[in-house]
Parts: sequence; structure tokens; C-alpha cells
Amino acid sequence: MTDFTSTMDTDGVVTLTWDVKAKSMNVMSTAAFAQLSDMIDAALADPACKGIIITSGKKDFAGGMDLNVIAEMRAGGAGAIFEGVMMMHKVLRKIERAGMDAKTLKGGKPIVAALPGTALGIGLELPLSCHRIIAADNPRAKIGLPEIMVGIFPGAGGTTRLSRKLGAMMAAPYLLEGKLSDPKSARAAGLIDEVVAPETLLARAKEWVLAATDADLVKPWDAKGYKMPGGAPYHPAGFMTFVGASAMVLGKTMGVYPAARALLSAVYEGALVPFDTALKIEARHFTSVLMNPSSSAMIRTLFINKEALEKGANRPAAADQTVQKLGVIGAGMMGAGIAYVSANAGIEVVLIDADQAAADRGKAHTEALLDKGIQRRKVTPEKKAEVLSRITASTDYASLAGCDLIVEAVFEDPKVKAEVTAKVEAAVGPDCIFASNTSTLPISMLAKASARPDQFIGIHFFSPVDKMNLVEIIKGKQTGDRAVAKALDFVRAIRKTPIVVNDARFFFANRCIIPYINEGIRMVAEGVEPALIENAAKLVGMPLGPLQLVDETSIDLGVKIAKATKAAMGDAYPDAAVDAVLFWMADQGRLGKKSNAGFYAYDAAGKRTGLWDGLSAKFPLTQDPALHQVQHRLLMAQVLEAVRALEDGVLTDIREGDVGAILGWGFAPWSGGPFSWLDIIGAPRAVEICDHLKATCGPRFEAPKRLRDMAASGKTFYPQPAAKAA
Ligand code: NAD
Repeated sequence: MTDFTSTMDTDGVVTLTWDVKAKSMNVMSTAAFAQLSDMIDAALADPACKGIIITSGKKDFAGGMDLNVIAEMRAGGAGAIFEGVMMMHKVLRKIERAGMDAKTLKGGKPIVAALPGTALGIGLELPLSCHRIIAADNPRAKIGLPEIMVGIFPGAGGTTRLSRKLGAMMAAPYLLEGKLSDPKSARAAGLIDEVVAPETLLARAKEWVLAATDADLVKPWDAKGYKMPGGAPYHPAGFMTFVGASAMVLGKTMGVYPAARALLSAVYEGALVPFDTALKIEARHFTSVLMNPSSSAMIRTLFINKEALEKGANRPAAADQTVQKLGVIGAGMMGAGIAYVSANAGIEVVLIDADQAAADRGKAHTEALLDKGIQRRKVTPEKKAEVLSRITASTDYASLAGCDLIVEAVFEDPKVKAEVTAKVEAAVGPDCIFASNTSTLPISMLAKASARPDQFIGIHFFSPVDKMNLVEIIKGKQTGDRAVAKALDFVRAIRKTPIVVNDARFFFANRCIIPYINEGIRMVAEGVEPALIENAAKLVGMPLGPLQLVDETSIDLGVKIAKATKAAMGDAYPDAAVDAVLFWMADQGRLGKKSNAGFYAYDAAGKRTGLWDGLSAKFPLTQDPALHQVQHRLLMAQVLEAVRALEDGVLTDIREGDVGAILGWGFAPWSGGPFSWLDIIGAPRAVEICDHLKATCGPRFEAPKRLRDMAASGKTFYPQPAAKAA
């Protein structure tokens, strides 16, 4: 394996070029790290070497650590992780000291990182150990430490170095929020040292190496009298930062993300001791986070499995189905959003509505979003013109000629949808795939209006389309493989994450989220304090409490869905208690956020001012359940539905269930998704909770057979690594 190559020029400057041949982006492996270490040793020992440039053979520097390696490290137990991390610290510290005398800090060789593009995770931690970081002026490049987003934190010295380089306050957005910056902003924030024209990158790096003095190589924290910028914890200014940071982190994470807390501890404790001890503290906290099941579940779902689904893990083996020309029917909220994301991804779009003004309004949505992008300097006027020119807004179905995919987003009415299907099929060629964006109507039923049901499919976007990354692809009874491949290739082109599910009422995401909302409303009817319901949800990691969620999606929509479900289920309908609250709210004209009145009260500007106090007059408080009882009800309402969706064959892959749950409705991301959560608590405990809830709250909490079988056999949803003693 040769991920790094080393060459020396005639001036004695050694260039270490990182280029992982089998990948389009460099990622660090254990073996590559050892190779880098050997090359550094060789260069430092070579009297002819004047200094070292570490750069990349690709357009980017590096995407980070290979997260599969992290998963493997975990299998070795805490001791192995700690040793592995300390080995990395040793190598990076060797780069930082670069052979200098420990006392005089003289005689080291300059080492510079030259970044042509994106540098993430270890791809920035390695440069942070160098004496200077020079980046090419590449506005598309992203620089930062996104580890916190997958449930870990920068554990190769990034936490300790960045907090000492910038101070805890300035480092916070990069460490705690995983903020990424382009090179110029990274330079302004002090993350990197210099930005130069791309074609001069290596020349400038060499120039710096040859001109560097002993003093240029000494890091502030290795120099005498170092003081942390902004103040260490017991400095008056630092005290304010650290006290504030702790409150902020707990407020934002509700205490459910172990990585955020451990990161903060590493910075705080590290700031009180010498640098090398701080690295050791960082390694200990990092080890404890890696050993926490939450981090492995988050890495598995939000990185490994999400990427696998995006790359087509469940794509049928059909020929390339890249979309050439897309027709979107219905230019309302959803259709306009679908047209925008598609045109933005380079696809030609025909956007049809019943009248020209509506079609034009739909196209204007794209213009408004692009204008926002221009204001934020993310979009150029040229790009705006180019994207807009790809959208044709029309009422004329004849302009759909040549489309190879149609996404229908007209009113949620089977009759209107059937008419549109027939009109579209008369206008397009025989190979065109037809997709409906329906959120509630069965695809197999809608497909009856189609002359080509094998080419009929559901592509269910979430609102707002430009922000929500999940797309649920629904196979009707007759949907063929080519339609599935087409839908997947489309979702890939617009850079969203797909899950593929079978046709059933509410598909997957809505099927799970409705019981969550209903459980919250049911508790209101039972006389549970609404604030307890909302806070219990947030304290278990849900982004919105059920009452806020129904306010956001609107109470009249809830009423509409309840009525339709009741009509379909007849006497088996189980949610009369929920309807008593929901229908009463609608009768009061409290329709949610859009009417400035719902379970919450709102001010004139539409800002929530607290839970509405009229609720307690109608539903007096009669119960004071324990926090965990409320949390179990709210979690199990969703999780059991996910298990049932698997049992019913709606879901065919637990990875899709977990990825879909987090991306689709924000299911407690720290858990890695409903199936990962069940693995964390274990099936026996899950069944025990279900039995208790069934006895106290009703049969809807009956543990599914699959869960009982797993409890009896000791099985888990995901294969568990053989745990070694710490
Ligand atoms: P909307 O009312 O905002 O837009 C519907 C558009 O379709 C309107 O512009 C209307 O003029 C147009 N239309 C109606 N009949 C037409 C016809 N015969 N020919 C051409 N255009 C016609 O509705 P929306 O919220 O965008 O929802 C559209 C579809 O997407 C629905 O099936 C809905 O269930 C689904 N959906 C909505 C959401 C959401 O959050 N709103 C989420 C996922 C899916």
C-alpha cells in the first residue's frame, strides 16, 4: 500500500503526497498513518532534507478518517482504542516538534500543510500539527472538523490544538457544531494561516519552508508563557466562556449526545494542564465516546448506511436511468420545490399547472431561493440565469414530450390524480416513468389510472423540499424494477437520500410519526401536563415535541388524516381519544402555527410564546406520570410502528428504517434510529417496557412477535461486534 509518496527536490524540500489510489477522496487508514510516520522519520533523519510539504495528489486534501476503521477500533475494546489514539498523538506530536531540541526549541525542520481543496476531520487535524497551513483559494473547498455530526469529536488532537489556537469561544462553532468554512473564511477565523492562488500553492509552500526560522516552528502552546486566547477556565473571561458553553451545550443537546459533553470536558480539563497531558485527556474522553453505543450507532446510520443507500445499495440491476428531462405536474408548494432541486442539479424541467399564473408562481419559487443564495454569496447571477433557463413553466401537456420521468404533485385527490395520469401518458413516450408525490394515497390504487402500472411509482418528498434530504420511494404492487432504478437515479442526481418501501397506508415515515403525535395528544386528553409531554420528548432527543409538531404541520391536516383513516378502518379505528382533543382544537379555530393559535400560543409575529393555557381548562391535569413513563410512550409509539412496518414487509431493510427515521422526522439522532435504539436497550428490556405500557396504557403497546422472538433468542437487529473487556 502506498497512500503517501515521498520525493525530494534539488533544494532539499521533501514533498509527501497523499493519494489513496482506490478512492476519489483521501481517507486515513491505520496503515497509511504508519506509512506517514515512517516517511516523516526518514525525512527528519536525512541531513539533505531542509523541510517538508504535506499535500495531496487529488483536487482535495482529505475527507477524514475512514469511519470503517473507527468501527474496527471499537471492536478491540477501550484499551486498544486508547493505545491507537495515543499512537496517533505521538506521530502528530513528532510532526509538531519536527526534531527540535526540547529545551531550546531550536533545530527543527519546517513542515507545512498545502491544502488544494477540502480538508475535513483528520484531514485538518494533521495540518493543525504542522507549522503552517496554506490553502488554495478554492471557494468550493470545505475546511473543518465535522466529527460531532456523527456522534464523536475530533480525537486526533484537533480538539486540543484548535481550542488552544483560537480559544474555547472561537473554536466552539468548529468543534461543537461541526461548522465547515471555505478557505477564505477559515483563514479569517484563524483555522488556517494563508490562502493563495491554486497554481501557486506548492511554490508558496516551498518558499515558506525555505524561509522559516526556528521561531516560526514553535507552537504558541510550546512557547514559554503561553496563555489560552480568551482565557483558561479560571481566568475571569475564560470563566464566563466555560460556564456559558456548558449551559449552551446542555441546552442544545438536552444531555443526550455523549460526544458534545465529552468534547467540552476535554477542552476544559485540557486547558488546565500542559499540552501533552491535555492530549492524553482528549484520548481518554475520545475512547469513552467511541465505547458509547450511541457513537457507533450514529456512525453506522448517519455515515456508513446513509452513504450505502445513496450509492444505490437497494437499486435493482437495471441499465443507467439518468434523468434527461423531468416533468413536474402541479406547481404548488411541493411541485415548485421539486422543480428547484432538479434544475439546480442540472436537469431540464417542464413545470405544469392548471393555469399559467400558477405555473409561473412555481418557477418564481426557484428564483426566490436563488436570490437568497446570491445574498448569501453561495450563488452567482450566472448560475441563477442558468438554473432558471432549465425550467419551462407551462399549462401545455404537449411540452412534456421527451420527458423520461414525471413527478405528479397536484391536489391530494384520487380523481384529480387519475385525470392527470391519463393526460400525461397521452403526451409522453411509452418508456416514461410516472411518479406520484402523494403522501397518503396508496400507489397501487393510483396506478389503476395508468396504462403502464409497471412504470408507475411513488416518489415522496418531504417539506420543504430544498431542505429535507430524505426521499421515500414507494413500490406499488405492479411497479417494475426499471421504475425503481429510475427513481433511485433521480434521487441520486439531486443529491438526496432514498429509502425504498412497499406500498401501505402512510408508507413508512408518516406511519411512524402519526402515532408519536397521537400519543402526545392522547396524554393531553388523559390530563398529563402538556409541558411534561413536550419536554420529555426533547429530553429523549426528539427535535420537536408532539404538540409543537402538530402545530407546525397544522391541526386541520391532522383532522383530515384522522377522518380518512377512520373511514378506511371502520370499527377497528383506535384513536377516538386523540380525535376528542384534535377535533375540539379545530372547532376552536386553533389550527396550529398557520392560524397563530394551536397547542401553543403565538404572538402577532407568529413566534411561540408558550403552551396555550386554555388547554388545562378543557383537559384538567389529573395525572403526574414519571418522566421515563412519558418518554417510553413517545418513543415506543414510533419504534413499534417501525418494527411492524418491517414485519409487514413495508420496510425490507432495517438500514432504511433507521436512516429514514432520522432524516425523515428527526427520530432521536443520538440513538442511530429506532432499530439501533432497540439494539442499544436490548430486546428483553424493550419487551419489558412494552408489557408495562400495554398493562398501563392499552393494547397498542403489544410487543410485536419479532421483538418477543428476539428477546427469547438473544438476537439483535444489527450484528454486534464481539465485545472485549476494557
Ligand atoms: P398545493 O396545493 O400547494 O399544490 C398543488 C398544485 O397542483 C396547485 O398549484 C394546483 O393548482 C395544481 N393542480 C391541481 N390540479 C391540477 C391539474 N389537474 N393539473 C395541473 N395542476 C394542478 O399542494 P402541495 O402541498 O404541493 O401537495 C401536492 C402533493 O404533494 C399532494 O399529493 C400532497 O399530498 C403531496 N405532499 C405534500 C406534502 C406537504 O407537506 N405539503 C409533503 C409530501 C407530499
